[in-house]
Amino acid sequence: MLGQMQDKPLLISSLLEHAERFHPNVEIVTKTVEGPIHRCNWRELGERSRRLAIALQKQGVKHGSMVATLATNTYRHLELYFAVMGLGAVLHTINPRLSPEHLEYIVNHAEDEILFFDLPFAPLIEKLQSRFPTVRRFYALANQDSVETAAPAIRDFAGYETLFDDTPADPSFTWPQFDERSASTLCYTSGTTGNPKGVLYSHRSTVLHNHVISLSDSLGSSADATILLVVPLFHVNAWGLPYAAAMTGAKLVLPGPHLDGKSIYDLLRDERVTLAAGVPTIWQMLFQHVDANGLKPREDLCLKDAVVGGSAAPRMMIERFDRDFGTFLLHAWGMTEMSPLGVVCRLLPKHADLSPSQRYDIQMKQGRAVYGVQIKIVDDDGQRQPHDGKASGKLMVSGPWIIGRYFKGDDNLLDSEGFFDTGDIATIDEDGYVTLVDRSKDVIKSGGEWISSIDLENAAVGCPGIAMAAVIALPHPKWQERPLLICVKKPGAEVDKAAVLAYLDGKIAKWWTPDDVVFVESLPLTATGKIYKLGLRQVFKDHELPA
Ligand code: AMP
Repeated sequence: MLGQMQDKPLLISSLLEHAERFHPNVEIVTKTVEGPIHRCNWRELGERSRRLAIALQKQGVKHGSMVATLATNTYRHLELYFAVMGLGAVLHTINPRLSPEHLEYIVNHAEDEILFFDLPFAPLIEKLQSRFPTVRRFYALANQDSVETAAPAIRDFAGYETLFDDTPADPSFTWPQFDERSASTLCYTSGTTGNPKGVLYSHRSTVLHNHVISLSDSLGSSADATILLVVPLFHVNAWGLPYAAAMTGAKLVLPGPHLDGKSIYDLLRDERVTLAAGVPTIWQMLFQHVDANGLKPREDLCLKDAVVGGSAAPRMMIERFDRDFGTFLLHAWGMTEMSPLGVVCRLLPKHADLSPSQRYDIQMKQGRAVYGVQIKIVDDDGQRQPHDGKASGKLMVSGPWIIGRYFKGDDNLLDSEGFFDTGDIATIDEDGYVTLVDRSKDVIKSGGEWISSIDLENAAVGCPGIAMAAVIALPHPKWQERPLLICVKKPGAEVDKAAVLAYLDGKIAKWWTPDDVVFVESLPLTATGKIYKLGLRQVFKDHELPA
């Protein structure tokens, strides 16, 4: 027997409609590409998104059309989110830091029809436009004056604001209703090996994921929150937070391309941000700005939670946020294939009386599964491993916002129980807290046992004078592989190999001690701000470990 409740589709347009109706005056603040602050609110964003949708329809955009963006976090990019998806077209958010070869591959693979880009990317488009045969129209996201001054040499090109000039508001326009399983956004994985792979989200998966990330035991969004999206709109839909902000009526702060420590600090302070989300490298840059200028974040800011994901958060980052900012560093884990949220590290009531140091021990774990995500760890034969905090295995996931197959890929990705292999290795403890041991590609296999590059890196960045650290495996005649520690010094620091090894002594198992420590000016990063281990392995492939 079926239930008899109304069968309304879960559509992304309903989130914007709710924000407009119940939180019309709540602000969306952008530090624009040009620099000045722009302010609008949910009512104005809703109105412009509807006008944009009408203009896009005139351009031939319809259900299932592919519309691409190559853009940073601005209100214009957000308008495109709601207008494109609201029509049932698919928004393909492109990471501008991909190589030109990967950009060419994904635009053609997705068969993008219209491409919107931030004006500073015009030279890139000028260079690549002939390799984008499916794109019939290009638009620059900028004021019309800036577009006319820049006058890029791009075929079939116009300024974004011209779309509004020709399209007055139409009070009779309503968002179309369609199957909630329709595709909404397309994101490609950063593809450190081989071509990037497309992950195609649906309205249903997005709205369900959004309900869960908004819970206070999860990332948490609410009408009294002000959310700074440092995580880009092209990195897994900014982890779903723009939708959460619309659903709950939160204020949104968008930094545009300005991700340096000063810009982020100023936005946190001036806009009274309560929740911010970004990868660890962003928070490192923020710390450097605070140190260089002797700032007092505890007095200046009201940042309650900072979400960190994408890479493991080192202990010193958790400690520093707590001590100097009065901020809870909220560790989360997920991936493009998971929309992205899988686990999040909130404390349980039984942790209330822990000392700060004991709390940090828990916060270093990636966290517990949110409702909707099932997790298991398995050995190489697919056998489930115990949740005792000791046994490690391949981390597998299942749920309504987790990938079934890649875009245009035929292969079923799931095991016989319907679980997807994340490529990560983890332990799960009795309380359900997941701790990532490593990417299976990055773990160091020494003498039949594993050394976690994540744990070694976390320990090394605690060493005075060390700004960043990466650990890679090098081949070893006796042990199969041994760790090489690659460090970047803080400006002016005097630290050397002996000092780093002395610092690590007692903090890690003796046999984990890196066989060598080298210093470099900077570490290569991937398009999503993670340390590019593949590149480091190439650079150091001939490095000889001391006997
Ligand atoms: P992406 O699809 O680019 O978001 O990358 C997902 C991958 O980033 C995961 O499979 C993990 O290897 C890594 N990752 C994400 N969050 C964390 C975290 N909190 N700690 C360690 N690694 C993480």
